[in-house]
Amino acid sequence: MPELPEVETVRRTLEAKIVGKRIKNIEVFYEKMLEDINTKEFKKSLIGEKLCSFYRYGKYLVFIFEHVSLISHLRMEGKYFIKTVDDPIEKHEHIVFEFEDGTSLRYHDTRKFGIMTIVKSVDIQDIMKYKGIVKLGPEANVSTDFEGLYNKLKTKNMPVKTLLLDQENLAGLGNIYVDEVLFKSKIHPLTLGKDLILDQVKLILDNSREILKYAIECGGTTIRSYTSSLGVTGRFQINLMVHTKVGQPCINCGTTIEKTVVGGRGTYICPSCQKVYKKIKVVGVTGVIASGKTAVTDYLKQENYPVIDADEISRDLLDKNSKYLKTIVDELTKKWGKTKVDEFYYEGAIDRKALGVIIFNDTSKREDLNNIMHPIVKKIINSDILRQKNAIIKKIEEKTLIFVSVPLLLEAKYEDICDYIMIVSCKEDIIVERLMKRDNINKEYALKKMASQMSLSEKVARCEEIGIDYVVLNNDTGLSDTYQKINEVIKNI
Ligand SMILES: [Zn+2]
Repeated sequence: MPELPEVETVRRTLEAKIVGKRIKNIEVFYEKMLEDINTKEFKKSLIGEKLCSFYRYGKYLVFIFEHVSLISHLRMEGKYFIKTVDDPIEKHEHIVFEFEDGTSLRYHDTRKFGIMTIVKSVDIQDIMKYKGIVKLGPEANVSTDFEGLYNKLKTKNMPVKTLLLDQENLAGLGNIYVDEVLFKSKIHPLTLGKDLILDQVKLILDNSREILKYAIECGGTTIRSYTSSLGVTGRFQINLMVHTKVGQPCINCGTTIEKTVVGGRGTYICPSCQKVYKKIKVVGVTGVIASGKTAVTDYLKQENYPVIDADEISRDLLDKNSKYLKTIVDELTKKWGKTKVDEFYYEGAIDRKALGVIIFNDTSKREDLNNIMHPIVKKIINSDILRQKNAIIKKIEEKTLIFVSVPLLLEAKYEDICDYIMIVSCKEDIIVERLMKRDNINKEYALKKMASQMSLSEKVARCEEIGIDYVVLNNDTGLSDTYQKINEVIKNI
């Protein structure tokens, strides 16, 4: 089947051979090929017209005459032949254009799927309004709008191959080139649109441009029934990396190329280079005060899961060498005044103890600090998540979870960066005991401290309200029990 590079080859060849010729007569042997126009009108529009130029969008070929334009889509098997008027009409030649100079252009189509129609204008803007073209996405051989494509694919629960074959998402990739592009991008064709990350979509578009441009230079691909009928033979088949290469070794890793079917289309992949990525999920870990969240994140780290720790990030932000320190101090000075800030900020560093005393005794000051810190922490977490995602994708890792530990995850609304939330909880008497020990306080004060924080039921209610998947992990029956529970949760996510 002709794809964009083949149609472009046909366009270039026809442009070189028949521009300037004037139509003397037309024979239509199969009227159903004409779309929205009958044979009589079709002939009337074109006879006497001189062919001025050609245009192509996606796989649509456009003949531009003096007053009208002819749009042609070759579909599965369409081909053009240039012959003389006297050559006998062959079986599959359905439409014949005779020129004044005694040559003729024959449209040949064994399966009769091709279409032709007339647009009564020679203006590209009017041609682009034709119903087949107007709905097409940007052209795969030139588009650089990877964000636009990402936004189209990110909600789709369909294989990326099927989505890329849909010309409304991207125009110009057919079965051959989709396989080539996905192979080069190391993306399995069954990966769902919604599981792709922005970097992968950018890679798809970069590789599409590169592969299609090269294929156009080579004059398109010649496979099976499509042969360039105009004296140009596609040479791209010698450069195919994966398509049709079943049983041969992968050029990257030597693994045998396999053939499979995706969306009803024969599909070639390297099973080692192209893995199906399940979406990489971000699991937020939070917990009730003193519930043993650290034991959970320690275990996850020990199991080699990436764990991003908001507390660590906050600590680093206030460090002497932090690039954000000046911004934070400036913001605090604006709110609290220089005298107050001088109490804990001197010689270019923050005295954490002094700052701690201030925010411990003043709730509104604690909120001020949090309001300044959280957006920065969130920004850093987001770029850490992206880095971890890229690392997982590059290594073709099986582990597709990233954990983000945030004590105030629900209070400070970090849920938008999470796909799932793990709430670590513990029995009240154990928490009180831990608090008394940890902070060296009496029972009454420990109870008060616990009451001042969001309770388990409030956290659960918040998860229900925002509609995010969550689990409550009870950490009160010993560490080995907790580890087992974590493993179960991971299996279920
Ligand atoms: Zn391979």
